[in-house]
Amino acid sequence: MGRKRIHFERRVARIGFMGRVARGGARGPDAPDEIRHRLGGEKISNDPDDLDAARSDFAPMPGFLADLFSRPPAAVVRPATAREAAEAVSTCFGRRTTVVPRGGGTSGLGGAVPVRGGVVIDLTRLSRLIDIDEAKGAVTVEAGAVWDDVVLSLEHEGWTVPACPTSGAASTIGGWVSTGGYGAGTLEHGNFHARIVSLEVALPSGLLVETSGPGGRYSVSSFAGMEGQMGVVTRVTFPIVRAPEKRAAFAVALAGLAEGISLCGRLAALEEPPHWIEVAAGGAAGLYGGGWDGPVLLIAVEGTAARVGGFTARLKKLLEGTGLDLDSSLDVRRLWARKLSGLREGREERSIASGAVLVGAEALGPLVSHIMERRGGPMLECRPVDRATTLVTARFRTDRERLGLFGALARARAFVAAAVRMGGVPYGVGLWNSPYIDVILGGRGEELRRIKAEVDSFGIMNPGKFFSMTTRWGLRVPGWAARACFRLAGLS
Ligand SMILES: Cc1cc2nc3c(=O)[nH]c(=O)nc-3n(C[C@H](O)[C@H](O)[C@H](O)COP(=O)(O)OP(=O)(O)OC[C@H]3O[C@@H](n4cnc5c(N)ncnc54)[C@H](O)[C@@H]3O)c2cc1C
Repeated sequence: MGRKRIHFERRVARIGFMGRVARGGARGPDAPDEIRHRLGGEKISNDPDDLDAARSDFAPMPGFLADLFSRPPAAVVRPATAREAAEAVSTCFGRRTTVVPRGGGTSGLGGAVPVRGGVVIDLTRLSRLIDIDEAKGAVTVEAGAVWDDVVLSLEHEGWTVPACPTSGAASTIGGWVSTGGYGAGTLEHGNFHARIVSLEVALPSGLLVETSGPGGRYSVSSFAGMEGQMGVVTRVTFPIVRAPEKRAAFAVALAGLAEGISLCGRLAALEEPPHWIEVAAGGAAGLYGGGWDGPVLLIAVEGTAARVGGFTARLKKLLEGTGLDLDSSLDVRRLWARKLSGLREGREERSIASGAVLVGAEALGPLVSHIMERRGGPMLECRPVDRATTLVTARFRTDRERLGLFGALARARAFVAAAVRMGGVPYGVGLWNSPYIDVILGGRGEELRRIKAEVDSFGIMNPGKFFSMTTRWGLRVPGWAARACFRLAGLS
């Protein structure tokens, strides 16, 4: 059925209605035809399987929501150089055709989903490691490089990354630049976005700009976390650290969730916190394949042998008298990869909907109780990102029949709505968190809207989400209406 529909929509696209932004397009060949002419046929695909794959991200939408909020792209472009990416974007800008940048497609909020069709720019061919600057302790890589590949290359040279997302087996450098920036290592080294040295970005005009530091016309903060709204990130320079002398990872099977959260808080408050901590509950622990049924506390620490030894001793002391056992036989990277593949397994039959929020210490306990006490509680992950803030992710797994998928999505949105009422901030925007954009951007909303209007005057970059939520036809869904639906969904 999907294939038939794509053929139909492509036919309509040819006669000019699909894949265009509402303001109408310039005359001449369609953007995909012009891109084919300029970059060569092997850089662009309109194979139905490619178009279908580019239509969704890690969390497919239930059919009727996909009908409302996504449209198959007309083509998938795979540039091999930044210049080619810039040419593809500027061609689309000239033709008023929408552009959706795509990395590994591992986010689940609809950020990489083409709401208005158009052209998907798949960055995964832009994957070269360009330079390791040992004197400055920095690496420059192309944006489509996969995290684990970069880590492997760096570790071969005695270096590593300070932080990466736990989806690093499949997600790209540019994808994390464009989304959250909190992950494994950020508890120890801080948010990734704040540490980026510079970015190269293909603006909609086709200009390739280099950003560095705060201030200036185009700063890193104009693009980091912007989910492809301002342009396509093509190259990233960020700090690296010496590969650690020692790594250790621990698991503590817990009697209850509250106990884990309390331990988490104490470990995050240490003067030298570990690399990564997570309390996994509600089946989330099972995804790691470690044989845990109940909640589990997972910890990774790395650095000099003295630092790892010191931390291990402190952890043992903390657990003294609690009756809890410490399992120290883990390979944490393998655990993360296992979880990613666990979530991917059986995706033909089963799907997932998730919500993630950043919450302060006061809201953490009430939010966790609120969500876990409800019927059909989620797989829950609580990861401190600094001393005061915890990233809470709730994943609702379901079969793929229409109502099940809708129910899971509704519960995930209701979870985010409840967290916002408790003072939390949604993590990531995509389609589903667009109604909270002002909470997410805080005081930066006006400035970022101004930059958006300046660099993307035709609104071709990843439309239908982020600054406002619209349907595939461009009909705007008011934030208050979407939020009211999410609240109602929470009552169901
Ligand atoms: C098991 C699992 C673990 C995860 N762990 C973490 C974690 O620890 N921390 C975390 O933050 N997230 C995590 N995520 C979510 C997701 O993996 C991250 O957000 C990841 O960084 C997305 O990268 P990607 O390459 O897959 O981007 P995609 O999903 O392809 O795209 C995400 C968004 O960024 C835009 N984009 C992608 N590349 C570019 C580019 N080059 N230029 C401009 N815009 C671009 C897209 O348009 C889209 O809006 C996890 C997900 C899963 C399934």
